[in-house]
Amino acid sequence: MTIIGIDLGTTNSACGVWRDGAVHLIPNRHGDKLTPSVVGFDAGGELIVGKTAQNRLITHPRDTVATFKRLMGTKHRIEVSKTSFTATELSAAVLRSLKEDAEAFLGEPVSEAIISVPAYFNDNQRHATKQAGEIAGMKVQRLINEPTAAALAYGLHDKPEGVFVVLDMGGGTFDVSVIEYFDGVMEVHASAGDNYLGGEDFLEAMVERFLADRKIERAGLDKGALQVLFDAMERAKRAIGRSPAPRVAIELAGTAHDVEITEPWFRDAVAGLLLRVRAPIEQALRDARIPLADIADVLLVGGATRMAVFRNAAGKLFGRIPSSYLDPDLVVAMGATVQAGLKARDSSLDDVVLTDVCPYTLGTEVVDPAGSGKPGFFLPLIERNSVVPTSRVERLFTVADKQARMQVNVFQGENRMVERNVFLGEIDVTVPKRKAGEESIDVRFSYDMNGLLEVDVKVNSSGETINKVIQQAPGALSDDEMARSRQRLAALKFHPREREENLQLLSQGERLYLTHLGDTRAAIGDALAAFEAVLDRQRDSEIGRARDELKAFLDRFDGDLLP
Ligand code: AMP
Repeated sequence: MTIIGIDLGTTNSACGVWRDGAVHLIPNRHGDKLTPSVVGFDAGGELIVGKTAQNRLITHPRDTVATFKRLMGTKHRIEVSKTSFTATELSAAVLRSLKEDAEAFLGEPVSEAIISVPAYFNDNQRHATKQAGEIAGMKVQRLINEPTAAALAYGLHDKPEGVFVVLDMGGGTFDVSVIEYFDGVMEVHASAGDNYLGGEDFLEAMVERFLADRKIERAGLDKGALQVLFDAMERAKRAIGRSPAPRVAIELAGTAHDVEITEPWFRDAVAGLLLRVRAPIEQALRDARIPLADIADVLLVGGATRMAVFRNAAGKLFGRIPSSYLDPDLVVAMGATVQAGLKARDSSLDDVVLTDVCPYTLGTEVVDPAGSGKPGFFLPLIERNSVVPTSRVERLFTVADKQARMQVNVFQGENRMVERNVFLGEIDVTVPKRKAGEESIDVRFSYDMNGLLEVDVKVNSSGETINKVIQQAPGALSDDEMARSRQRLAALKFHPREREENLQLLSQGERLYLTHLGDTRAAIGDALAAFEAVLDRQRDSEIGRARDELKAFLDRFDGDLLP
């Protein structure tokens, strides 16, 4: 049974397999190790995923979606080609595409996977990720925290000894983990993070500042024009600090704009975001009780850590230059693949042991411990950064005479009042009617290696027990909904693999046509027309040659956006 390791990223995904004592990253149908986490439909209603869909974000904004990972674990529905999907279903489409690429590469079916999640993903988001894997037709053997996966990849790479900090900033999230590696044992001491701080937020801040500088109302721009602006800004973001400074030259609502994106302008636009980098780092170090001086290395993971402003901010906070000698875009997939090797009990990994922590506090609702009788207070059962798996039990008593029911409301978070924490689920328990305080229940929370919570309740007088894996949370799919999602995805036809390369080139060309002007645009238009003429003639050898030529031609204009 082959298990693959998957990094399901906000902007890009990747997967790998553990073979012959090493990680092998799996190329997708275009030969790339990174697959953009973008989903869309072509004119015939067939599903397209990855680079082809990414190119169509600009040319077909209503038929294409990206960055849906941010909505995982919510009921929010996302409209694509006049049909609405949950983020779980869209993620399932990406996972199915990775699964098919892996099967084509390995020449055998893949039915199991390890999927990485941001360490700071809450229980709902973790369940949604697991469900996405299952909808895509894979049993999710384990969820692994992204920074832990990265540490695993670094750990196997050069076996550093000591405590190191992993800073992981991808498209949507920022995670910090303090990890110790000693004698083959990888121990996570603490994780902290911000689920809404990633490269996409830096991009958003640039776009907002650009629109404010130029006094353009965002609401007045259509989806396509906005996408062109985002695309140009994304290129600029990746080229900031280079000489000459990148320019954004675009036409918006009939007016031409040509602006130089300088480092000071960028720093100013993202100053608020940079300030938010500090808090999770401080919290992780405090929870781990590790002084700054004991840290052997700071490792950077995730595409957004390539930004010089981020490296400088991290360098200042730690007083040292952070390391990034493994590819920050691929290191999480590499680590998830090592975990797949561990799961398959590969003998070359016999001496590697991994322990992880739960990043949030989990608890239940109780009445005011000070005795006012007011409900809504949070009683922590499993404190954040406890080593997992872990289990803890707490006894709760009835508070009113003849009380017949006790409701166990389960929350996750760090606030004293439950209303400010994340609601995960509830269990209703019937108890014999007695005087207040005479009946009690034992509530046990068990938190597993995947970061998923199980709650057991025992009524002490009767011995009755109730066991529940918490998944009735808002946003989680019920068994029926899961079955429906699976059928829906199975009914969607993928754009045929053999034609995908042609569609990908045409969509790349159409995007470049839209984002360029003048002679370049005309030349791109001519090249596309010539290629379409070749496709119409339907001679395979001619198509192959024309495809290579068109690819080389288009790539000349695309430098920075290619993975
Ligand atoms: P990931 O989810 O790890 O693939 O990270 C993707 C994020 O990294 C996106 O927001 C990208 O804009 C950002 N990113 C990738 N490469 C660069 C780069 N060279 N400079 C700045 N940001 C980058």
